[in-house]
Amino acid sequence: MTPSSVKCTVQSCKFWKQGEHCDASGIEVNVDGGGNRASQSEQTNCRTFAPK
Ligand code: SF4
Repeated sequence: MTPSSVKCTVQSCKFWKQGEHCDASGIEVNVDGGGNRASQSEQTNCRTFAPK
């Protein structure tokens, strides 16, 4: 399977694959703390994360 174009460093996620690839068919990203506006990347998060 072709590696995803999503780079991820969260190795404890069940979708994470060697080489920092996300193997999920799609991901949901939200703003930390709610709402729909972030001003820097640190304020966003992957909601699709699931522990291994
Ligand atoms: S689902 Fe999210 S946290 Fe998990 S590997 Fe993909 S991008 Fe990373």
